[in-house]
Amino acid sequence: MKARTYTVRIDRNRCKGCELCISVCPRQVLELSGEINPRGYHFTRAANPSSCIGCANCSDMCPDTAIELREEMNRHA
Ligand code: SF4
Ligand code: SF4
Repeated sequence: MKARTYTVRIDRNRCKGCELCISVCPRQVLELSGEINPRGYHFTRAANPSSCIGCANCSDMCPDTAIELREEMNRHA
């Protein structure tokens, strides 16, 4: 049996905290961090990574290409 899992990685230094990715995520995976990056913005983080379904809405939407989505195939999952 195979199962797909998805890993969403956000480059906190590229993120400007516009929240577009948060607004288009259907699974509430993403949220704005309380921390601030070197550019002075609150950045997005993956608060619920296990809920990600790999739809790529977030990475398609990000104007700063700060989001990388990876798909992994897990056998025997
Ligand atoms: S790929 Fe889809 S489900 Fe996963 S974090 Fe991005 S918008 Fe949310
Ligand atoms: S869309 Fe990109 S720049 Fe905007 S909050 Fe999300 S990761 Fe940051």
